[in-house]
Amino acid sequence: MTKLKGFAGKILHIDLNNLTHHVLPTQDYYEWGGGHGFGAKLFWDLSEDIEVVTDGRDPRNVITIAGSPFSGTNVPSAGGRCEVTNMSVGLIPRNRFTRSNFGGHFSSMMKHAGWDAVTVTGKAPYPVYIDVRNDHVMIRDASHLWGKDTHETQQIIQEDVASVEVASGWNGQLDGNSFGRTTQKASVLTIGPAGENQSALGCLIHGAGNAAGQGGNGAVFGSKNLKAISFIGTGAVDIADPEALIKARFKTRDFYAADIDKSAEFAFPSLGGKPEAITFSTMPTGHRVSSCHGCVNGCKQRNAIGYGNEVTCQTSVWYLGAVRSYKFGGNAKLSLAKTGVELTEDSLYAGDLANKLGINTYPIMGLIPWLQKMHAKGELGSGKEIHSELPYERLGTREFADQFCQAIATGTDIGAYFINGIVPGIQQLGHSADVDNGTLHYPYYGMPEHGYDPRAELEWGYATLMTDRDMNDHGLNWIYWTVNLAKLEGIDFPIPAEVLASRFVEKMAPYVQADEVSAMDYASHNMYSEVLARQVQWINHYGRFWKNSALMCDFRWPDCVNTHREDLRGATGNDEVGEHVWWNAVTGEGISYVDGIERGRRIFNLDNAIWALQGRHRDDAKFADYIYDHKMTHNKLPTYLWPATNGAGQWDYREMMGRQHSREGVEEWKSHYYRAEGWDTATGWPTRSLLEGMNMKDVADRLEQAGKLGNEEV
Ligand code: SF4
Repeated sequence: MTKLKGFAGKILHIDLNNLTHHVLPTQDYYEWGGGHGFGAKLFWDLSEDIEVVTDGRDPRNVITIAGSPFSGTNVPSAGGRCEVTNMSVGLIPRNRFTRSNFGGHFSSMMKHAGWDAVTVTGKAPYPVYIDVRNDHVMIRDASHLWGKDTHETQQIIQEDVASVEVASGWNGQLDGNSFGRTTQKASVLTIGPAGENQSALGCLIHGAGNAAGQGGNGAVFGSKNLKAISFIGTGAVDIADPEALIKARFKTRDFYAADIDKSAEFAFPSLGGKPEAITFSTMPTGHRVSSCHGCVNGCKQRNAIGYGNEVTCQTSVWYLGAVRSYKFGGNAKLSLAKTGVELTEDSLYAGDLANKLGINTYPIMGLIPWLQKMHAKGELGSGKEIHSELPYERLGTREFADQFCQAIATGTDIGAYFINGIVPGIQQLGHSADVDNGTLHYPYYGMPEHGYDPRAELEWGYATLMTDRDMNDHGLNWIYWTVNLAKLEGIDFPIPAEVLASRFVEKMAPYVQADEVSAMDYASHNMYSEVLARQVQWINHYGRFWKNSALMCDFRWPDCVNTHREDLRGATGNDEVGEHVWWNAVTGEGISYVDGIERGRRIFNLDNAIWALQGRHRDDAKFADYIYDHKMTHNKLPTYLWPATNGAGQWDYREMMGRQHSREGVEEWKSHYYRAEGWDTATGWPTRSLLEGMNMKDVADRLEQAGKLGNEEV
């Protein structure tokens, strides 16, 4: 077999039904790129009964945790990401093949141990964990770990793995017949009690706070009696052209990165931005940034207060609204007005709690204000219509956070209602109207709004409708943060709206031409246009390969607009520092930027074939009623400015607040999208000619057998 550069060459298949493992050659999956591509193809190949499995907790579910050629390298913001794919838990109107992604050092250590991915099928007869030390694979009894939180679990496994000390500070590791050495500790991915209890709100945790949760990944581990997966390795990554890799890295540093010695009044988040923890609130003194493997951007933090490590982004603020409400009154909704450090510390404490118990904080964040409201109305509490013994009068305190998180993780008290997800729980409680009318912000598939309302941020809503989950792609979303935070701080945003829009569309090959600036026009008169369908097509295909399969971090790629450069042109697609340059340096292939996007199209179409087999239909792709029936009136920032034209075609940053969708308009947009993809506009299913054109005849055959092949457009 040819040695594939960048890859380790082996995929680990764990069959928990029989407690055995097998080696699959990476060569057989190479064309799928890594990450999501591997996960989709492995799901396709290894799933029994795709058509009949309706819940991710079914033992027939296939869960894959995959790295990419970039794992373990110093490709900027790409060496430490890891993709998780599986059948979901808790989505509506039906579960489907879905994905999540986390950072840290898991994928790099997996590579150092000699593996590109691990895929798990079946269900163990008792709790187990997978302990991989280079080539040595053990499926071990986890009864001593079951019930432990995610931090304790990692520590116990790491201490066990490190127990073979061969010299001071060096650990010996079994490696077939040889003996490798490392100073590193094992990288562990684990569930906490939430996953053990198979809660749809359970997530996977690696390190202090790297989490994969959307789609109920924790419940999938729990349903398989799988507590954790641990890798330690003593190998290296075989790079095709190390010199080209280092040259590109230096070029990035010299021409695309922030000058660490200069403070900038304004910077668009981009490749090589200054390391800065993403926490959205006043940080405690004594914190410093930390990174995933090989990343220069450092968006996580370590705190001198002793907790809150890697509690970043949304996890850092899931409880912030409640803390503020308890201390200053008002409702518990998240608002990102300036906060005092005492709010941040309680918030980080709550973030730690969730991470330790393995709870996905997105869905529970939206629930908190609803609980507060129901308690205030006298409908929630001890002996009330919704019975619960939690101390709601202390909502916003650490004491409440402790009890609430325990209840959610163990499925007891109020948590018993939400074991299958927040929206199913609300429905069970007879309060569906609160989802329909937008009291609860769960606009798609029973998933919480990511913070970017589909009535304002069109691409976020549309891409979500066309994929499996809240799309979580910040490629364009930095516009929201940068423009609106500048406004809040009284800074005149220095890039004219039309210029910003132009810089984005220049990168949207092959779907949007470089002069089609209207692809970034979010004006109401352009909401349902065909060009916006192609823009979303670019997001989906770019994302499926470069982000979800090659595993370039969503926080830094694509680099469309780079404010460290005078011409503002980012690294994306550039022939010296673009995505393909890194890919070719690591793998030795010679692909172009657009070749990668074409690979993403193929992966995305395999996804859609799986979704079709699982019962997905055009009618599933719709927003909750409030998105159509009510105007958007508030957000976590007071404005929602975005590039848009007025009736006279003049560009500016215009307010998106106050807008609503129309059902007819969204349906019109969907038809544009289906046509752009070559899918049947009546069903959303892929057609034979489309699949065969991408060398997926077997997929077309299976869809036809199942009666799920789309009709060709006439
Ligand atoms: S930007 Fe943040 S999340 Fe992304 S790779 Fe770097 S440290 Fe990790």
